Amino acid sequence: MSRLRIVGGTVHDPANGVDGEVRDVCIDAGRIVAEVPSGTPTLDARGMIVMPGGVDIHSHVASSACNHARRLLVEEHSANPVAAPALEAGIAPARSGTGGTLPTTFTTGYRYAGLGYTTVFDAAVAPITARHTHAEFDDTPIVDGGFYILLGNDEYLLRQVDAGERDRARDYAAWMLEATGGYAIKIVNPGGVQAWKSGQRNLTAIDETLGSSRVTPRAILETLADAANTLRLPHPVHIHCNNLGQPGNVSTTLATMDALAGRRAHFTHLQFHCYGSGAEGKTGGWSSAAKQVIERVNGDPHVSVDVGQVMFGPATTLSADGPAQYLLQASSGRKWTNIDVELETGCGIIPYRYEERAAVSALQWAVGLELFLLAADPWRVVLSTDSPNGGSFEAYPALIQLLMDRAARDEQLKRVNQRLLAGSALTDGLSREYTLNEIAIITRAGPARLLGLRHKGHLGVGAEADVTVYTREDDRARMFSLPRYVIKGGVLVVEEGQLRRAPAGRRLRLAPGHDETVVTDLRRFYDAYGTVAFDNFPVRGLRDAPLELG
Ligand SMILES: [Zn+2]
Repeated sequence: MSRLRIVGGTVHDPANGVDGEVRDVCIDAGRIVAEVPSGTPTLDARGMIVMPGGVDIHSHVASSACNHARRLLVEEHSANPVAAPALEAGIAPARSGTGGTLPTTFTTGYRYAGLGYTTVFDAAVAPITARHTHAEFDDTPIVDGGFYILLGNDEYLLRQVDAGERDRARDYAAWMLEATGGYAIKIVNPGGVQAWKSGQRNLTAIDETLGSSRVTPRAILETLADAANTLRLPHPVHIHCNNLGQPGNVSTTLATMDALAGRRAHFTHLQFHCYGSGAEGKTGGWSSAAKQVIERVNGDPHVSVDVGQVMFGPATTLSADGPAQYLLQASSGRKWTNIDVELETGCGIIPYRYEERAAVSALQWAVGLELFLLAADPWRVVLSTDSPNGGSFEAYPALIQLLMDRAARDEQLKRVNQRLLAGSALTDGLSREYTLNEIAIITRAGPARLLGLRHKGHLGVGAEADVTVYTREDDRARMFSLPRYVIKGGVLVVEEGQLRRAPAGRRLRLAPGHDETVVTDLRRFYDAYGTVAFDNFPVRGLRDAPLELG
């Protein structure tokens, strides 16, 4: 079925200024078109809500780190067997798997599509493990996938920063994106991971130097932000600031934003970077500093963020931020694993659980909601739980309910530990309730725009035919967890609430040009230090061509 008319739904397509208008949506050969011939098959969406397919700007679904985490989560997996879905015969074989906070690959694709999401980005891939990520995405059906490559603690880049070779650093980043099939540049704890790996303590201020070098977090941030912007990458540099999860880290977050003022930059899982240090004079205190940070974001059109909301229940923290994970392991006493990725980065993983009765969990939950509820521009403050760090992507419907339904939010607020909530705007009673249009912005139109995906996140003519149809319900958590229909690239994948088809997703990757002299230099570097021969480093044979830039 290459043509389809979705009839009479209430359409929310904020990128095209459509806010709840009853209209038809026409599809031909995987694209949205203005009209289809009479006699085209129809799908009756009268009384239902129609939105573009969801776009997840920051998740962890297909990486070497995810696989390490799966290995650590044996209890979760044995407790959550997932039977193969009843797919229509003849398209792709249905596969069983396991669920939990890090489901197996096939189950991940099925469950994202089952929530109406059709595009997902993995936010942290060590370059040397990119081949693995492509293999995992090959096994993750339905969703289009891409990933961000970790730079900023990698030996080659740090040498360029130390030498003031910013142009070479830019060419290196461009080469790396093409070699790995990546989509954007990710920085995690700039310089801090490398410092910690090499026996220096973590870097905690943006002008602190790495060892005896001239490398500072500020220099790394400037170099990579400029690289992404000069290369005109569709998504700016994606930043996980220094001092994640530490009380008082608001000063680092604001200093980082100031350091990059005037440059386009995306700050990820902002919630984990908005903590004050508590009542004056008290050491080791915690408080919310969400208001200070979101006011800074509201006033700066170059800045975009995803929230990284914490949801109560099980989570798995996995991050390239080895030192932050070390501290979490030390304070939680849970099992963990830590991995040094030779020349490139680190990785720590800890199964975790956020509890309503735990003071810090409750503070984190409140900080995330404050960021959402005080955000002035939903196009620049988009939804994430940093899945599975703040909670699984399967908690998105419950999060949408917290944003849309003040009564549900206040009900939960009464139950949570209040000890650290003094001064939180949430306890003053934030009355905002997100509209359906705002939800459409923070879950699809906004992320697509921030990612520079011109044919996603909207339903205008020429857009990819990724469409989600929801039954209208007052219980928003239920409504967003059970779409009635999901269409991916023109294929009806969810029909009457049941997953019926699971076509392969597409890979979203870039190949920006670079000066060839960097390759000569890199070859020397890999010959001297790499465990992989330089010629074997680039991933080859990818089935989808790089996206056009421009
Ligand atoms: Zn993340």
